[in-house]
Amino acid sequence: MNEPPKTADGRSPILRTERLCKVYSDGDVTALADVSLEIFPGEYIAVIGPSGSGKSTLLHMLGALDTPTSGEVYFQGEPISALPSLDQFRSTKIGFVFQSFHLLPTLTASENVQIPMFESRRSVGERVRRAEELLAAVGMSHRLGHLPSQLSVGERQRVAIARSLANDPVVLLADEPTGNLDSAAEQEILQLLVGPHEQRGMTLIVITHSPE
Ligand code: ADP
Repeated sequence: MNEPPKTADGRSPILRTERLCKVYSDGDVTALADVSLEIFPGEYIAVIGPSGSGKSTLLHMLGALDTPTSGEVYFQGEPISALPSLDQFRSTKIGFVFQSFHLLPTLTASENVQIPMFESRRSVGERVRRAEELLAAVGMSHRLGHLPSQLSVGERQRVAIARSLANDPVVLLADEPTGNLDSAAEQEILQLLVGPHEQRGMTLIVITHSPE
């Protein structure tokens, strides 16, 4: 493996891709061709480009939700294809926020936020308290017991953001997190993602159509 590049101040990339290619055999689509990039700890990156240009595919590769056809993704210098458990990597290091929320419809807001904590050593009481804290931070204390169908779309995204932050991820990947929201809600939701980036240096990578 080549020595990962460093900046002048000696930092190494938290994520790096080397000649990443993704060909979907279904339809023979080349979604990514030779993508090499570096993302440094604490950066806030916007991924912009036309529909179909491979943004979601790239995000899925960075978060180990899908595997490249060729090339490699490195997390803190280690190839993620060599990690002993991708599940553990995703649940402890990476947070995900999707345009369509991906909440489980039969679970309450609090239970949805607890999902990523099931693998951790937290007791039930600790999980519940942590979910309450996370939901309070996104302004959702008054809806702990509501099902997703009983929430507005903006509230659903708040719950999804609380869930994405449950295990204090070092990298948060957001795929058009405000795509289903009006512009007032858009600013509030983006602020909820930017908060942990500013407060504790969480690396934030957002696919967006919004020039702002
Ligand atoms: P973007 O996020 O920029 O809109 P995507 O990464 O979703 O782009 O898609 C890139 C290209 O790959 C598109 O042409 C899309 O149709 C194709 N694609 C995405 N997912 C699949 C899949 N599961 N099977 C086949 N083709 C796909």
